[in-house]
Amino acid sequence: MSTRISHITYYVDLRSAYVQFLGCNFNCPWCIRKLTPWDHHLGNDELARLRFQGLLGINEFLEIIDSAINQYGMEEAVLGGEEPTIDSTLPIIVRELNNRKLRIRLLTNAYEISNELLNELRQCRDCEVVIGIKTLDPNRHIKYTGKSLEPVLRNIKRLVENDVKIVFETVLIPGLNDVNDIEEIAKYLANITRDPALIIDPLIPIPGTPWRRPTQEELNEAMSRADRYVRVMTHEKIGRPSRVVVLHPRP
Ligand code: SF4
Repeated sequence: MSTRISHITYYVDLRSAYVQFLGCNFNCPWCIRKLTPWDHHLGNDELARLRFQGLLGINEFLEIIDSAINQYGMEEAVLGGEEPTIDSTLPIIVRELNNRKLRIRLLTNAYEISNELLNELRQCRDCEVVIGIKTLDPNRHIKYTGKSLEPVLRNIKRLVENDVKIVFETVLIPGLNDVNDIEEIAKYLANITRDPALIIDPLIPIPGTPWRRPTQEELNEAMSRADRYVRVMTHEKIGRPSRVVVLHPRP
């Protein structure tokens, strides 16, 4: 059975594998994957060496994970890249990783959460879903992602009602999802869930798009405005440096 997994890197010091899925149901113009299809934490030499070798079968994927557990003492799997939920084998992947007693972080836009996936997440010992909110403006959402906001909000509600652990994430994009918008997102989250946490990422600009990187002052302002309603985090604060190796594709 084929998955949509195209690439796996391993963060040795964090004991964490980053499992990257290929393809997305959104089409955000600021998507970092437009810069490189590979994990952008890899060095230039490694990036130049990588060649696409097809999507992994579920058994091949599990062999790679078992080998990382044996070789490195792997403790965590981050499921992301593009959009993991478009992979019909995702519920099996979550179950198998959970059976191996790994921590699981699922990064998703929450547009498609099947009942089967929801069921696995509910039963998962140590699963966290990181939901990327692009904007709460329905017109901007459809204009920039190509998809309606409504299923995203409905799925957030389903996950909250089923006590799945959630962290929210949004990108500060001056002129599109700016400081005021982020405050509105924080207010919204405080209304729908207890003790919400929000990661605020500064935009990394993509050549050919009109949006610039926010200044540090704008980022600080967004964080302090959101902090009135939610626990605020940034990747810059929570990320720790680590040696990274490629588990797939191998040369
Ligand atoms: S949802 Fe994420 S992966 Fe998909 S296009 Fe948008 S930024 Fe890229």
